[in-house]
Amino acid sequence: MSRSRIVIVGAGFAGYQAARTLSRTLRGAVEIVLVNPNDYFLYLPLLPEVASGVLEPRRVSVSLAGTLPRVRLVLGEVDGIDFDQRRLQYVDPEGRSGELAYDRLLLTVGSVNKLLPIPGVAEHAHGFRGMPEALYLRDHINRQIALAAASEDAEEAAARRTFVVVGAGYTGTEVAAHGQMFAESLARQHSWYEHGRQEHGRQEPPDEREGHEAAGARDGKERRTRWMLLDIAPRVLPELDERLSETAHEVLDKRGVEVRTGTSVKEATSEGVLLDNGDFVPTRSLIWCVGVRPDPLVKDLGLETQQGRIVVDEYLRVPGRPEVMACGDAAAVPDLTRPGEITPMTAQHAVRQGKTAGRNLAASFGKGASRPYKHHDLGFMVDLGGVKAAANPLRVPLSGPLANVVTRAYHLAAMPGNRVRVLADWALDAVLPRQAAQLGLVRSWSVPLESSSPEVARVPTH
Ligand SMILES: Cc1cc2nc3c(=O)[nH]c(=O)nc-3n(C[C@H](O)[C@H](O)[C@H](O)COP(=O)(O)OP(=O)(O)OC[C@H]3O[C@@H](n4cnc5c(N)ncnc54)[C@H](O)[C@@H]3O)c2cc1C
Repeated sequence: MSRSRIVIVGAGFAGYQAARTLSRTLRGAVEIVLVNPNDYFLYLPLLPEVASGVLEPRRVSVSLAGTLPRVRLVLGEVDGIDFDQRRLQYVDPEGRSGELAYDRLLLTVGSVNKLLPIPGVAEHAHGFRGMPEALYLRDHINRQIALAAASEDAEEAAARRTFVVVGAGYTGTEVAAHGQMFAESLARQHSWYEHGRQEHGRQEPPDEREGHEAAGARDGKERRTRWMLLDIAPRVLPELDERLSETAHEVLDKRGVEVRTGTSVKEATSEGVLLDNGDFVPTRSLIWCVGVRPDPLVKDLGLETQQGRIVVDEYLRVPGRPEVMACGDAAAVPDLTRPGEITPMTAQHAVRQGKTAGRNLAASFGKGASRPYKHHDLGFMVDLGGVKAAANPLRVPLSGPLANVVTRAYHLAAMPGNRVRVLADWALDAVLPRQAAQLGLVRSWSVPLESSSPEVARVPTH
């Protein structure tokens, strides 16, 4: 008699934990199949460190086959599910279609970049939701600094040294904080940084000089790259504790990052960004971190949704389909600690929901008992680069080096693999300059903002 089969769609925080829990609980009694476009679990919270050259990309990519025994990995992207027939279709990385039958199904397809209908943004901005975008950004920053150094046109050079990050949630704040340090470290490696632009016969445009003097007056150093962090909200990290916002704002301000709250983008062009207050900021870099929305597969499934996420009960079951479960960013999980609300889209919830889903799936095969999902938020960590961070583990507000140690220790403990490699990169980064080498393998057109698969780089179709 053939074994029953559980299929998990998506190997992110929720899917990975569910597969691990099932593998340990069922020990081969039921077939576990994990469908994911990549053969690794991506530890997203450390992605800003990949984009800023602190960590090499494979450090945050944990092998699925290498860490999930008794789990069959099927490389592919699911593009249709027949719930009545209990079958799903997928496309593998070489474009071939496949089908899988299931007895139980867990949907953990996560989320993609959120778009806003602002002219020019889809064409000129890049998101920050997957590895290809992080690799693109790392090279892009490098390239802009190098092109600025080589340019004889002062205005063009200034635009290339200007980086605009939109969205001051944890992703945008970390991208701006790490990005600024990375760009400065690269700029310092160019001779014009030491000898000044005047020696090369170039003048800074007057508004740039003013900007530099203002920053210089603030932190006593001349600033060579310009970073802006915009948000329509009145403070950075608007969704987190105010004390974290204050710490993050202070760190960014000291580094010369221009934080503009209550500000949005009106239009983006190839030459720069028009803000809603009428200012035009010349730049070649618009980094879009305004948030995420559930993976587009969700809306094609015909299941009930809330705020675009699959409706489930507190046991993570889809109503009317007892064999189907969903959790993580893609699901509207009732938050039993805040009645009437659904859990936020965070790794903290996705990890725990994945474990609960694994336990409840095992229980449906007679191993253990089902439990409802309930989790009190344990606080948040925001790594601000260097030895700075803002954190409130268990609601205790921390800042500075202590917060940084706690944040890094938390990430190491939370990663399901690659810990020694991550530690080694952190140690190297503490003593060596960042590598100014752009490989140019991910081009602008292969990481469009509007993508249903930010986890894979787009390839040309013939
Ligand atoms: C840069 C960044 C930093 C973050 N930092 C933090 C942080 O510090 N703390 C925190 O709590 N949260 C953080 N988050 C949020 C957190 O990463 C998400 O809430 C979490 O990843 C959600 O987990 P998930 O399993 O639902 O989805 P994901 O982790 O996104 O996983 C979804 C998986 O499904 C796969 N998939 C998608 N579509 C399909 C399909 N059709 N077929 C098959 N597979 C598919 C994807 O490839 C992916 O592997 C961060 C997010 C980002 C982008």
